[in-house]
Amino acid sequence: MGIITIERKVLEKNDEIAALNRKLFKDNKIFVINIVSSPGSGKTSILERTIEELKGKINIAVVEGDVQTDFDAKRVERYNVPVVQIVTNGACHLEAKLVKDALDNIKLDNINFLVIENVGNLVCPAGYDLGEALKVVILSTTEGDDKPLKYPKMFMNSSVLVINKIDLLPYVNCNLDVLKKNALQINPDLKIFETSCTSKEGIKEWCEWIEENVST
Ligand code: MG
Ligand code: ZN
Repeated sequence: MGIITIERKVLEKNDEIAALNRKLFKDNKIFVINIVSSPGSGKTSILERTIEELKGKINIAVVEGDVQTDFDAKRVERYNVPVVQIVTNGACHLEAKLVKDALDNIKLDNINFLVIENVGNLVCPAGYDLGEALKVVILSTTEGDDKPLKYPKMFMNSSVLVINKIDLLPYVNCNLDVLKKNALQINPDLKIFETSCTSKEGIKEWCEWIEENVST
């Protein structure tokens, strides 16, 4: 019982701060996505392809969440976009307060698209609102086609599914139709993209969707 109460208090406090973040994003007309996935699904690679495609068209900033290291922030920084690294020192998800503090380092009136790359974890990031417009879950074909059924909350709480590494489909144990069927069984409203950061297949469609959502 005690654990449940503490957890609930943490989430209530988190939701209060997330609401403040959301208001801040709205006031500054920024479209914000929270990218979630397991480690190694290609979050940062998709982000790199996205920046390449959209740079000059929209003004992007990035908040990178990692358990350790600033490797991902360094990768993004090479594209000359504002980036803030949050190192959670072991914590397996981002919280709204961490994002709020990170925002102090970004000039919000200069940007219209903010990407929050969450810590690689398909479990608890599902429960933490950061103030984003929506969650984007990335799942790579190397992870198989049963993940939506095994981690339903993440797929329920996400609005978009990006199926990444589709160039590897001939070599991995993943049936694309089954994967999509499983995902839509959990969340029939999921918008689905299929991408490869190697062949760049699907990146254009994904970026067009972002452009439709960003107010310029
Ligand atoms: Mg990453
Ligand atoms: Zn966690």
